[in-house]
Formats: sequence, structure tokens, C-alpha cells
Amino acid sequence: MFTKILIANRGEIACRVIATCRRLGIRTVAVYSEADAGSRHVRLADEAYCVGPAASRESYLRADRILEVARQSGAQAVHPGYGFLSENEGFAEACAAAGVVFIGPPVSAIRAMGSKSAAKALMEKAGVPLVPGYHGDRQEPAFLRSQADRIGYPVLIKASAGGGGKGMRVVERSEDFEAALASCQREASASFGDDRVLIEKYLVRPRHIEIQVFGDSQGQVIHLHERDCSAQRRHQKVVEEAPAPGMTAGRRAAMGKAACDAARAVGYVGAGTVEFIADPSGSFYFMEMNTRLQVEHPVTEMITGQDLVEWQLRVAAGQPLPLAQEQVPLRGHSIEVRVYAEEPEKGFLPSIGRLVHCAPPAASANVRIDTGVEQGDEISPHYDPMIAKLIVWDENRERATERMLAALSRFQIVGVGNNIAFLSRLVGHAEFRAGTVDTGLIAREGEALLTADAGLPAAAVEAAALWTATQEQRRLREKAAASLDLHSPWGVADGWRINADLGRRMAFSAGEQRRELSLQYGRQGLSIDGEAVRISTAANGLLRYAAGERHTEATVVALGEQLHVFQGGRHTALTLLDPLAHAGEEQDADGGLAAPMPGKIVALLVEPGAEVEKGAPLLVMEAMKMEHTLCAPARGVVQAFLAAAGEQVKDGMELVDFKAAA
Ligand code: ADP
Repeated sequence: MFTKILIANRGEIACRVIATCRRLGIRTVAVYSEADAGSRHVRLADEAYCVGPAASRESYLRADRILEVARQSGAQAVHPGYGFLSENEGFAEACAAAGVVFIGPPVSAIRAMGSKSAAKALMEKAGVPLVPGYHGDRQEPAFLRSQADRIGYPVLIKASAGGGGKGMRVVERSEDFEAALASCQREASASFGDDRVLIEKYLVRPRHIEIQVFGDSQGQVIHLHERDCSAQRRHQKVVEEAPAPGMTAGRRAAMGKAACDAARAVGYVGAGTVEFIADPSGSFYFMEMNTRLQVEHPVTEMITGQDLVEWQLRVAAGQPLPLAQEQVPLRGHSIEVRVYAEEPEKGFLPSIGRLVHCAPPAASANVRIDTGVEQGDEISPHYDPMIAKLIVWDENRERATERMLAALSRFQIVGVGNNIAFLSRLVGHAEFRAGTVDTGLIAREGEALLTADAGLPAAAVEAAALWTATQEQRRLREKAAASLDLHSPWGVADGWRINADLGRRMAFSAGEQRRELSLQYGRQGLSIDGEAVRISTAANGLLRYAAGERHTEATVVALGEQLHVFQGGRHTALTLLDPLAHAGEEQDADGGLAAPMPGKIVALLVEPGAEVEKGAPLLVMEAMKMEHTLCAPARGVVQAFLAAAGEQVKDGMELVDFKAAA
């Protein structure tokens, strides 16, 4: 076995590989770009080397620099993860030339599967079922169109060199074919430097089912069952699970055999995935083979109890596969979701920024989190904005679904937009629960999946109000402790008690919605809308309180103007509407300015008789431990102040005699 491995990747997969190496006592060498100097994979690895600037082309794709690090560090093998150089035959060759083991299949297998067209030709020979289509060399538009006409519409034009859902066009009618072809070729040549395409029958409501295969250098090839990755958005996987819903033992054996045949046909060694598209009748067809570890490999690990990275390392070191086909376990059900920094409501635009707060659900035997970031880290614009993969396991699909929903409801992120609520709606969707997901579900149900629950939750508003009040009191206590005036009534932090019971209205908004409540500061503590509240914890973002029989727990994170409240599995971002900020606007321009809440006058900012412009600050009052400024409601004259600095004033008391200009 190896004693030192270089990981030519970043993010969650780099961290994932490091975890296995650590368990096996193998030293790890990380490479990183300048943008990733402080990232989690660098922190976890035993050694780390910078290989260039942020842009992948200049760092994670620089085979030469990465191999130089392998030489310097004495790593015996390179794990490429997924993406980047993982399916790059040039890199695999360069590793061999440098005397470093490439943890992946032989170069010849990468090459054979590198082109979807060539792979299909090969699979056809090996007797693996293919989607009806054309995958030959001829590329003249008229010829391709005649092939599409022969296959029958709708057809799918696919870039032969494609990947990641790019370079695909669905064509519904013959007359649209040539325009779609041209656009597909443009995208293919821009993305993959190769404009060749193939044409397939476009299956309606298909499922994406893939088989995990493994080969060793002794010539054995086995499979570790299937994964269903039908929940896709724009041909990209969003949720993956194993086993596939509705899979029968017979069909699994048939697909498994086809996948192993495909792998054997290219002399496969290591971890690979054979992707099939399955139609509702149960027929399945080869799509492509990915010659690397997949993003969604954890669901296979959960149902088999195996560590696929360990298998990769053993096979790369020349050891035989740890299990024979009939020994591969299949236990329970596992689901994975990809938690992304993106804004589903804004067309899934990536969301860049700092993870101000990042609290995934607790890991356990049933819940696994694979991530490359922690609270405080940045989601950078340079790479895929994945935050984490959340994986759950349970005895059956129904329970695994419930577990996933529970885990998602506990996943808290503040600082970047994220798809957690979207994923919850997707996993909770009737079709997902029924196990009848096809690849078009997200597109069809987009509206429902994107619509946030209506209404501002009362519990979130209540928590935000209590949090605001307790934090004000805390700040006050700190101020009093630091102050010399130990007897100042402002230092009394056990409630507001200048008068007996003082009320205060608090309003919060979230988007277009607004909700108000009234908070009373009584001798016994706080009440909300007349109901006494007993707060047991209000620190470090955690709020626990009881009101009557209700016991509530919430997490509250302040960021900028907003309070992010996590309560009852919901995340609500609330803005406290300052009743004083707009107070002036609500006053009659002519006449007086009244105190909108009880407080103390801190300062008068202009002389009586002063002519002022609209919006000019007139006086500052302190209320609920915060300073607020009252401003001129219009251009006019301050005739007189009706309260002096230092004076306590009651709610509604006239403070300024103001005369608006004509
Ligand atoms: P990529 O390599 O870009 O991931 P794939 O060939 O794996 O491309 O296809 C990605 C997805 O596109 C599939 O999971 C499936 O949802 C859809 N797809 C591919 N081929 C077909 C087809 N013939 N009919 C319908 N959908 C297809």
C-alpha cells in the first residue's frame, strides 16, 4: 500500500479522500490555488503546496506543476478526484512517465470512453444496449438531419466530447434541426474544443440509472449496484439515491451485467460508472461511462458499507477487489442532495460570499456530510459553488426520505444564498416520495418547487423580537459595567421599569411581508402580546424560551440589517422596521413631532427658531437602548422644543412645535 498520496483536487472530494487516507495511515499531500490557501482541504492535509493562481487553468489543471509537487513531496500516487484532471488521459500518461501511480483506470480505458460516440460504437460491439441513434463520424448537417428524421423526433443532439450536461439540444421537429445543430456545435467547440456531435432518440420521462463498477488488475470486474440520479435540473444531478426506486433483482442483475460487460470491453481497472437511461417500460440503454469516482458515490457506500476510496487505493496498489460480486451487501436506502450556494429564486444563480454561519446537521450513523468548507470560509467565484453533500441512510426509502427532510430542516446557512429550502420541497414532493421521479420533474414542477411557504411565520417574528430585546439588554449591561455611573437607571438590565409596564411595538419585514407584535417590559420580565415569556437562553445565537405551555428554540444570526431566524425547520430573514426611522414622515408636516415610543431625549440638534430643510435631524432620543433621530417632516421652522435634553418622555408626547414652510 502507498504511504503518501497527492490529491490533485480541492473542496469536498479532496477532504473526502484525505479522510480515508488518514484512517489508513497514509500521509496526504494537498495542492491548492492562491484562492484556496486557507481552505479546508489545505488545513486537513499533512502537507500542502500552492500550484498557481485562482483560475483552474493555471492551478488545478496544471499537470506539470502538480507532478512537480508529487516529485518534491515524494508522493507515490495521485488521486484526481472528479472534474479537473480526473478524466484527462494526458495527465494519466504524464503520471506514468513521472513514475507516479494515477489512481484511476488505464489510459486506454479513459481514451476509449472519452468520446461518447466512440464509446457507443464500442458498446454496440460488446452487446450493451444503446439508445437508437447515430454516433458515426459523418458530421454534415444535411446528413445528420436525415439521421434525425430516420430516428424520429424528438431527438437529442449531444456533443461527443460533452460532460456536465453541456452541449445538448433537444429537437422537436425536423425544420428546427439545423439551427439546433449549429448552436450545439458552437457550445461544444467553446466548451470542449471539439464540435463533433451524436444524435439520439430523446426519451420522454426517462430515468437516469447508473451502475457503480470496479475492476482490479487481476481482471475481475464487479458492480456495486445502481444509483438513481433522475432528479436533475438542466441535465445535472440534484438528488441521487441507492437503490433505485422500484428496481427488481432481475433488472439489477441485467443492468449490472451490461455495465460489467462495458467495463470489461475497455479493460477497466478501478472505480467507474456506467450511465444508463431507462424508459418507463423498464428498458435501459447505455449513455456513457465516467472513468472516475462520481460525486454521488457516497450513497453506494452507505448501502454497501464499503469505502470506495479505499477500494480505489487498494486496486491502484495492485491488490485484488476486496469482495466478490455475490458478497457485495445491499442494505437499506440512501439519499444524497447537493447543497449549493445558489439562488433558486433567481434562476439558480451562484451566490458568492462568506459563510457567516454554517451549521450542518449533526453527523451520525444515519447522516453524513461531505464538505470542503466550514463556517467563516468563502464560497469563491472561481469554482463550483457546492457547499456540501448531505447524505442520509435508513432502513427503507420512506424512512430515508423523512431523515433527509429532517436533516435539511436542521441545516443552517447564513451569508450566501442556498438551495436548502428548494431541496426540501423537492424531496418532500409527492412524486419524489412516490419514487416516480423522471428527469423532467424539476422542469415540470419548477413553479411549486420554487415557491417559498407563504406567510411570515409568527414564531420567527416572536424569536426575532425577543432576541432584539435581550441583545439590547445585554449591550446595556455591558455598557453599565464599563461605566462609572453605577447608579444610572440605564444600567438596570432586568427589564425596563422607569414606569411600571412599558410597551413597545415591533415590526419586522421579510420581502413584501410585514408582521408586528407588542413587547411589554414588566417587573417579571418580558411579555409578548400580553403573554409572559420566560427566557432560559439568549446567547451565542441560541434562544430558548417558554410562553405558556409553548417551549421554543431558535437560532438567530444577525447579518447586516437582517436577523436570520432558524425556527421549526424554517429559515426566515427578517428586517426590524425601526418605528422612528420614518417617524417624521407620518407626522403632519405642520404641527408637532411626537415621541413614537417612550424614551429619553439625548440631544436637541438645532436652535429653536431654526429654519430647516426636509429631513434635517432635529433631536436624538434614546429608546429601547438605541439612539434614534427625529427629522424634519418638511422644509420649515422649528418653533420650539417641548422637551429638554435628559428628559424622559412618554409615548405620543409632543416633542417639537414645527411649522412647515408654505
Ligand atoms: P453529460 O456527460 O453531460 O452528463 P449525459 O450523456 O450523461 O451527459 O446525459 C446527461 C443527462 O441528459 C441524462 O442524465 C439524462 O437526463 C439526459 N439525457 C441524455 N440522453 C438522453 C436521451 N437520449 N433522452 C432523454 N434524456 C437524455
